[in-house]
Amino acid sequence: APEMPNGISVESYEPAQESQLSRSFEIENKLTEAIRASQFEMLYQPIVKLSDGNMVGFEALIRWPWKSGEYVSPTEFIPIAESSGLIKSLTRWIIKYTCQEFASIYLQFNVDLYMSVNISSADLVDMRFTDYVLLTLHDFQLPPHCLKLEVTEHSVIGDLDAAVNQMAKLQEAGIRFAIDDFGTGHASLRYLQLLPAAYLKIDRSFIDGVTELERDAAITRATIAMAHSLGKSVIAEGVETWEQAEFLREHHAEYAQGWLYAKPMPIAQLLHYKPPTAP
Ligand code: C2E
Ligand code: MG
Ligand code: MG
Ligand code: MG
Repeated sequence: APEMPNGISVESYEPAQESQLSRSFEIENKLTEAIRASQFEMLYQPIVKLSDGNMVGFEALIRWPWKSGEYVSPTEFIPIAESSGLIKSLTRWIIKYTCQEFASIYLQFNVDLYMSVNISSADLVDMRFTDYVLLTLHDFQLPPHCLKLEVTEHSVIGDLDAAVNQMAKLQEAGIRFAIDDFGTGHASLRYLQLLPAAYLKIDRSFIDGVTELERDAAITRATIAMAHSLGKSVIAEGVETWEQAEFLREHHAEYAQGWLYAKPMPIAQLLHYKPPTAP
């Protein structure tokens, strides 16, 4: 390995790491500008009731076309937004933009639908977050019950008291919560009990193998039972086949989301959503 004059080996600094690091820097720099210039798009994925396939709500998912014709995945840039402190302004942009889009079609739905928005730990400990959300709903004349917020186990671990307080404030105002990606974090069952969340989303990684691997089937059954005993409803993520949907229905999961029902789509297309017909 090459040695610096002072004897420190630099072998751990590989070109691959260097380019990974410069890509992160590039993303962070461009993110600041993208937030200021509203360079994001939002897509919406239906969440359906397993018993009849009807849409009950939809999840807002961000898309960022950051170079001509090229998108960078939220799984890559959201963590960078979180670690760089940009997430608070990004989440505010998302709340405002999605409320505006939802408001533009809200009255055309003849059933009550909710919109589910992903938020981060920094949002939950930002003491002015509740006011921002309520004011935004008010500005677009949307009732609080039409908004749901998704938090991961990971996002409440940092400052549990602050997160629970903020969630309680929002919940009092009529906004419900879902615990996202359940089963992939490190939260204890105690957390689950403490969090004022009405919904629990079972992570796609368990749904993937639910009809083939006894391990995934066992975890899914146990998660559904636990959620129900804590008074929470279950949403299964990443449902791609009728067999998975049937398994979930048999085991009394209430809701599902996944490519079987629909891929994420522009807001106006939600108006034309029809459940797929079973084979
Ligand atoms: P998530 O909140 O768990 O969102 C579900 C992800 O699964 C989405 O990926 C969705 O497109 C994908 N998905 C849905 N159904 C299926 C399926 O049947 N099969 C497969 N293979 N995938 C499916 P996406 O849009 O790439 O988002 C990834 C993650 O990025 C999200 O996971 C969430 O953690 C984060 N994210 C996305 N949008 C936002 C946002 O607006 N704000 C924040 N804070 N995070 C976001
Ligand atoms: Mg989510
Ligand atoms: Mg999820
Ligand atoms: Mg996920």
